[in-house]
Amino acid sequence: MGALTDSFGRTFPYIRLSITDVCNFKCGYCLPNGYFKQENKPGFLTLDEISNLVSALSELGVSKIRLTGGEPTVRKDFFDILKNIKSKGKINNLVMTTNGYKLNQIADQLIKDGINGINISIDSLDRNKFKEITGHDRLPQILEGIKILQDKGFANIKVNAVLLKNINDSEADFDSWEQFVKENAIDFRYIELMQTGDSLEYFRKYHVSASVFKNYLIKKNWNEVARVADAGPSINFVHSNYKGKFGIIAPYSKDFCKTCNRLRITAKGELRLCLFGNTGTNLRPLLQSPDQKNELKILILKQLNFKKESHYLELGDTGITPHLASIGG
Ligand code: SAM
Ligand code: SF4
Repeated sequence: MGALTDSFGRTFPYIRLSITDVCNFKCGYCLPNGYFKQENKPGFLTLDEISNLVSALSELGVSKIRLTGGEPTVRKDFFDILKNIKSKGKINNLVMTTNGYKLNQIADQLIKDGINGINISIDSLDRNKFKEITGHDRLPQILEGIKILQDKGFANIKVNAVLLKNINDSEADFDSWEQFVKENAIDFRYIELMQTGDSLEYFRKYHVSASVFKNYLIKKNWNEVARVADAGPSINFVHSNYKGKFGIIAPYSKDFCKTCNRLRITAKGELRLCLFGNTGTNLRPLLQSPDQKNELKILILKQLNFKKESHYLELGDTGITPHLASIGG
């Protein structure tokens, strides 16, 4: 059985695996009213189901998995999941995205259990703004968590912020991040706000093109790095006087989808070919026993033929994604 390839010649060594839709934050662009449990709906994938899924994926050439959500660390068995995936020995790049709310408590354990990279979402370095955006006054604990990771020599840390008009897009906001990457060997990236099914009004109010940040970087003599073949969606900038780097993730830009190398699996086991696609394929019935592995692999390979060349986000088509907590942003 071959590796994961689509009809446009793209390969997919990278899976974003959501392990829960639950989140304790209330980010205005994602879950402004917090997470609501849906009654009588099936629960999230169990450890055994995840284990069966990852075994099949690794045989299809997947070598990188990002654990995401919702907030992945709210799962009580988060570390069991991490250790189970690591124990298979085939996923050499196991990374995660977190809001970092308890990073200061779990940083040690994450390193011990072999996480290879951590993306942390911090929309502002201003404590009040951070609280306003996320609904939680947790910035100090998150920064403390980053410090613990750094003190232990953990290097693969990225910090992401969603760029929001009149909230964190001023020159003073950019300056505070520039100071941050001067002192910290961390990649900081602004993500352009994406419209999702639930967020049209918010999007209209707060979307601003990432070019405002790009113009700032050019003005401050940051140098754009030439793209390598299998780079992610981020456009990166370096400067010799700074320990860290900057990046921009602009999903509305032309050619964003050309370098797509990832598929998504929701916390309930649906394969999503695109963040903004219109369909999902339920893999769950084939995750019930290790004996179903071949059938599962055949189903995933077949579905890839349906992956489209691009999303149609610029036309306002957000597909079936109400918010990114439902798919693992
Ligand atoms: N809870 C974790 C976190 O916030 O890092 C992981 C899940 S969250 C859905 C993943 C990423 O998606 C975060 O960096 C978040 O800022 C981003 N995100 C959520 N909604 C977004 C939107 N509408 N546009 C752009 N990025 C979004
Ligand atoms: Fe939670 Fe992450 Fe969504 Fe914020 S972006 S509400 S932290 S899932």
